[in-house]
Amino acid sequence: MNFELDAVFIEEDCRTSALADRVVKGLPDSVPVGYVADGREVSRAQASGADPFGAGKRRMVVMRRRRPFLMACPAASSEFACCGLLVLTLASNCPMDCSYCFLQEYVADNPAFQVYANYAEAFDELERMASKAPGRHFRVGTGELADSLAFDRLTGISRDLIEYFARRENLLLELKTKTDEIDNLFAVDPRGRTLVSWTLSPQAVFSSSEHRTAPPTVRIRSARRVADAGYKVGFHLDPIIAYPEAERDYVALLDELFDTLAPERISFISMGGLRMPPTLRGVARRRFPNDPMLAGEDVLSPDGRYRTFTPLRLRIYRTISERIRAAAPALLHYLCMERPSVSAAVLGVTPPSPAALGERLGRC
Ligand code: SF4
Repeated sequence: MNFELDAVFIEEDCRTSALADRVVKGLPDSVPVGYVADGREVSRAQASGADPFGAGKRRMVVMRRRRPFLMACPAASSEFACCGLLVLTLASNCPMDCSYCFLQEYVADNPAFQVYANYAEAFDELERMASKAPGRHFRVGTGELADSLAFDRLTGISRDLIEYFARRENLLLELKTKTDEIDNLFAVDPRGRTLVSWTLSPQAVFSSSEHRTAPPTVRIRSARRVADAGYKVGFHLDPIIAYPEAERDYVALLDELFDTLAPERISFISMGGLRMPPTLRGVARRRFPNDPMLAGEDVLSPDGRYRTFTPLRLRIYRTISERIRAAAPALLHYLCMERPSVSAAVLGVTPPSPAALGERLGRC
């Protein structure tokens, strides 16, 4: 995969940064590079047109992050069983365009692909956090507000990250992606401290909803390659979308996964149903009016999100969980952004606390 850009903007303060240097050297000659005083102005000035969010995916801004890099997962809530993931925001937005993506709402006022040149400051934040909690293990992901690897060919950030985490016994890096942009990973030894995860969907969801992503088969084959190179691997079945053949297709997807990668080599599989706040649902249906995956029956849940009708949602979760258990009874799988009662109904056990699950995943 190789994502095209219409333009790159670099903040004057970041002109001599290593990241700006790599980006400029890696760009094709056809992509213009401009210099600006404040990268935030690029987003604001160009937030117009028929689809400013879609256009923003083709404009990269190399800039300084002015807020902390490390934060709790934005999906975390005391209402839900939670996996305790910590999020490191090294970039914001994504060149791919999934019809259900929450970024359509979350960064709606910021339609450009921001990459932060001062990302090494994130290592200081990690040091401070780890020193305050000696003995604890943390899983730290970069794939919440951006795909972790989509532009890695250009930015080369993965190398610095993997090398940093390789020296930290109590921190596990998670790189989450829907791409096959894995070439840079083979140049570094992760020493067991980096996990690469893929979000997986059946072919029908990929074809109708996951624009510019790698096909599911390619993602699975990429996972096998990085596992063979010494990386841990995990998978996210999220969002799980209810459509007439969903149960059959999710089982077939797992069959393909386990045929390619022995389940014992998989660290975890998370599951989460399609959920959309009303604003996101409106934006998504407006941007992708012909996507049948957005047109299923859903109900407004007490948490303010539209979700698949609960009995149907639970039935699909159970079918998937049974297939995972049949392949590997010990393979850790859990639900994301669901109430503990839903987790218990599907998995048969009360979910552990976020800290306990976070510790287990940080050690995986
Ligand atoms: S790959 Fe992830 S971040 Fe990118 S558009 Fe799809 S859902 Fe959003």
